Amino acid sequence: MKLIRTYAPYLKPHSRAFILAILAGVIAGAASGLGIPFFTQKVFKAIFENTERIYSTWYLIGVAALLPASFVVRGIADYFNQYLMSYCGINVLRSLRQTLFDKLQTLPIAYFEKNHSGDMLSRILTDTTQIQTSTMIFAAEACRQPFTVIGGIGYLVYMSYQQKESLFLLMFMGLVPVMLIPVKLIGRHLKHRSRQVQATLGEVTEHLSENLHANVEVRSFNLQRKQSLKFGNLLYKHFNFFMKQVKYEKLTQPLMENIAVIVLAISFVYAYKQHIDFNTFIAMGMALYFTADALKRFMKAVNELQKAQGAFERVDDILAIQPEITSPETPVKVKKIDGNIRFEEVTFAYGDSPVLKSLSTEIQAGTACALVGPSGAGKSTFIKLVPRFYDSQSGCIRIDGTSIKDFSLEDLRENIAIVPQAPILFNDTIANNIRLGDPNANMDQIVRAAKAAQAYDFIEGFEEGFETVVGENATRLSGGQRQRIALARAFLKAAPILILDEATSALDSESEAKIQLALDTLIEGKTVLIVAHRFSTIKKCKTILVFDGGEIIARGTHDELISSCPLYKQLYERQI
Ligand code: ADP
Repeated sequence: MKLIRTYAPYLKPHSRAFILAILAGVIAGAASGLGIPFFTQKVFKAIFENTERIYSTWYLIGVAALLPASFVVRGIADYFNQYLMSYCGINVLRSLRQTLFDKLQTLPIAYFEKNHSGDMLSRILTDTTQIQTSTMIFAAEACRQPFTVIGGIGYLVYMSYQQKESLFLLMFMGLVPVMLIPVKLIGRHLKHRSRQVQATLGEVTEHLSENLHANVEVRSFNLQRKQSLKFGNLLYKHFNFFMKQVKYEKLTQPLMENIAVIVLAISFVYAYKQHIDFNTFIAMGMALYFTADALKRFMKAVNELQKAQGAFERVDDILAIQPEITSPETPVKVKKIDGNIRFEEVTFAYGDSPVLKSLSTEIQAGTACALVGPSGAGKSTFIKLVPRFYDSQSGCIRIDGTSIKDFSLEDLRENIAIVPQAPILFNDTIANNIRLGDPNANMDQIVRAAKAAQAYDFIEGFEEGFETVVGENATRLSGGQRQRIALARAFLKAAPILILDEATSALDSESEAKIQLALDTLIEGKTVLIVAHRFSTIKKCKTILVFDGGEIIARGTHDELISSCPLYKQLYERQI
């Protein structure tokens, strides 16, 4: 039911096609169940029973053509049924994937740390495909086969009435519940197995995507064999669950067929005893066959639905997540932000133990503040709280006196430019990568931002200049160049608050010098929070916060801290 409830809205825009598909299915179903036996009997009666009259060839052709005619009707209706069902199916799949993708955009960063991107890929691509295939098979069969059954039973009822043969009918009616037994038994297993099949497929995708990302590590640590073995094991695990699913799935059909055929065999004996004439028997046999076959197909489709249910649960895991970090219902209207940032007794933990312990501090608008301290002290966590990548468990963070939770997420982030340690460039042109800072920027503004970020020269050095496509992971660019593009984005964004996570890795000296130069211009007049590793950067900042074990243990200028804070002095001496 949940599957249907979730699916129905996606189907709604295509309801006309869906209704036509059902209609075509009804025609195809009725043509098989009722039409074919009916015409069979007419044809057989005309040709085999009529011994006195000699029919003209044209008449015979006409009668004989009735059978192909009912097949043609069935064929055309069948074609449209399947075509339209596929149309609806692929549209539903498209919308479902879009919804999942949009949902991912709203999820907190913590979600991506807990869940592997490979598994998410698998849920969005393969699980949705499984749902689409299975539900469309079900939908196609569900609208066709019941009508074949109704048509077939209708014909049997009619013939039984005509021949005064209720036992024949009773026998058939008894067949229906017996045929359902294997389906009921098997369905439960199928749902469970399908979830396992999809989960192991997720693991395969996960390993594959990890391997693709780590292509350098695989080669430098000679991990090829190890990686290959692990992939083989995961494939084998998937294979095992798949075969378990097949074992149950493929059992339904022969079980049902055997039950049906036993009933058919009994009906031969019965027909002989009751002197039922040949053409009536054949027509009834056909009605019986089509009805049993339709039942079998319908039940197979029910099995498909069980499989879809397994995949659906995995997709629903994502759909059901309620994003914890959201905009308030009535956000504060933002005109201009000065950029005063205040932390009031802020406590934050990723898990059980707090990483930031009741921190209180204030950064004046328009000033730069450096965060220093040993690794793991909580500096990066501190800066991640400001754009609400995470929410603190207690305490409050205010910008210009307003709690950051009172701004809409969009407004808050619009006013913060972030330059991470290892910026990601999209597989697009350099110009478009810089344009992320301001989607409406013209080429002049982009060039100006690139110049300010000391990136202009190397960009112009490329044959295609700003139109150079950076490639996946921007491997064509050096670390320092990538950072300067990220700085250019920040220049273009011109947000009043700037958050910087200085690269820990050593950059080439040219990049290093240029980045320092760019930073001098970039931080001017802005409120800057910078996780700094280089004292050349730290010294430029008006305020320095010294972090240790999730607390701010000292605050001051470089000169003040050198004399008053032993940890700061120690960190400084280690670098010079
Ligand atoms: P710093 O930037 O000073 O090196 P961090 O803020 O990155 O420190 O980390 C502070 C503590 O929080 C460390 O003990 C680190 O292991 C932990 N931590 C950081 N990020 C996460 C995360 N996403 N999930 C769980 N623990 C984390």
